[in-house]
Amino acid sequence: MLLGATGSIGASTLDVVARHADRYSVQALTAHTSADRLLELCLQYRPRRAVLSGSAPDEALRRRFSDAGCELLFGAQALADVAAAPDCDAVMAAIVGAAGLPATLAAARAGKRLLLANKEALVMAGPLFMRAVRESGAQLLPIDSEHNAVFQCLPHEGISATLRGVRRIVLTASGGPFRTTPVERLHGVTPQQACAHPNWVMGRKISVDSATMMNKGLEVIEARWLFGLDADAIEVVIHPQSIVHSLVEYLDGSMIAQLSNPDMRVPIAHALAFPERMESGARALDLGAVGQLSFQRPDLARFPCLGLAYDALRAGGTAPAVLNAANEVAVEAFLSGRLRFTAIARVIEDALGRVAGGGADQLDGILDADARARRAAAELVHRLLGQAA
Ligand code: NAD
Ligand code: MG
Repeated sequence: MLLGATGSIGASTLDVVARHADRYSVQALTAHTSADRLLELCLQYRPRRAVLSGSAPDEALRRRFSDAGCELLFGAQALADVAAAPDCDAVMAAIVGAAGLPATLAAARAGKRLLLANKEALVMAGPLFMRAVRESGAQLLPIDSEHNAVFQCLPHEGISATLRGVRRIVLTASGGPFRTTPVERLHGVTPQQACAHPNWVMGRKISVDSATMMNKGLEVIEARWLFGLDADAIEVVIHPQSIVHSLVEYLDGSMIAQLSNPDMRVPIAHALAFPERMESGARALDLGAVGQLSFQRPDLARFPCLGLAYDALRAGGTAPAVLNAANEVAVEAFLSGRLRFTAIARVIEDALGRVAGGGADQLDGILDADARARRAAAELVHRLLGQAA
């Protein structure tokens, strides 16, 4: 089943599934508000159930779905119910943001084969989430291209295998659309410029996160939980071509990397077929045509969000949930023209300073920290807007 079917990862997943219709059938599809698009997908992929989480369907809409042989459910609880339903064995978690946590966690608790794109769920609730995976025996497979790359470069006893022999991992980052923009011009950049990623086509939230490098910060935290490594053993390097998706360094000095053209169908097909391999639809990599691969250290003055994410990871407890929630509020404010690009980091730093921390092993505590961080961030956005006027 596919949580977040109408998004960018949703589209790539359905593309891979359609190439292997003999192997996979879709049990359920979900969307937040795009009812018409969801119905189109249901007509094409014929799931038994669909969930519209963001707007209550009227009778006419329900009938259009039932005419397509599909039961239409509504609301956040329905997302968690279908993610845990006994008739589905694999769940693609591709809802964006904290909103994906309850359903992604429900799939982990139900012991599913869980393809994880919704990194925010793991950032917010790492300890709780990994405990659910261990206790239920769920099989967690990373979809984020960097984590999928690391997974491919590890010995294959599975993701919870001991990392004996691993010294550290190196996550690559493209540097986004503003890698070379003069720092003094960053305060004036527009949402459209921030969403124009040089190598990947993605949803708007993750595109802004890539432009601030908060995406890499969230991925460092994601890697900490997925692979059980300390912050010091997770390095970030800028690699503008987005061909090397990440690397694992072993104690003997060897580094193993995974390479492909930047196309999310590669990690999606890898995780769907694991431990086998199958065709993804991605173009094969022509190294002669690529010519050069380059690497450089990230500049934390240009990308303060990356430093804030390391700070939150080291602080532990609910600090990553606060970081994530404040980031969501700030990105939304930037996308709707209420906040300058350069103030995103300021809003997050302020929330991290003002919201008291707690433990991250209970869902209530995490959701409470998330709510307090959202209020603190919204307050500062409001104040900054007043100052700008
Ligand atoms: P997107 O904005 O394109 O799609 C988001 C999906 O989530 C849509 O189907 C939407 O209907 C649904 N959704 C949005 N708000 C919701 C809510 N409140 N409740 C329930 N459903 C909701 O996002 P995307 O780019 O596909 O990213 C999805 C996730 O995958 C994110 O966590 C992102 O960080 C991660 N990811 C994306 C990419 C990529 O290439 N797009 C790469 C790596 C990881
Ligand atoms: Mg990524």
